[in-house]
Amino acid sequence: MHELGLIDALLRTVRRVCGEEKLERVDRIVLEVGELSGIEIPYLYDGFNAVAQGTEFEETELAVETVPGILHCNECDIDFPLKDQELICPECFGKNLSIVSGRDMTLKSIEGN
Ligand SMILES: [Zn+2]
Repeated sequence: MHELGLIDALLRTVRRVCGEEKLERVDRIVLEVGELSGIEIPYLYDGFNAVAQGTEFEETELAVETVPGILHCNECDIDFPLKDQELICPECFGKNLSIVSGRDMTLKSIEGN
């Protein structure tokens, strides 16, 4: 499961930030996940719960915010939102597309003290 690797990397980042900010407890981790990232959000929650078990993050809440996927058609030179996960241009029905946004997973904020 691809998501477990992401959680691992995420928690490494969170630990580093905790060290820098001298946080002793993390109450909440907020992630932004793009619609085009291919990440299955339910797996992210499951993976987090599994990985956090028995660690300092056991009581930490994971919150996920979705970032809309925006695509660009290289033929029509237009941007349009992703709809129904279909990678197709609504004007020319072509597939010569680039991703404008929504490809990444980013750590938005860490709340704790
Ligand atoms: Zn097009």
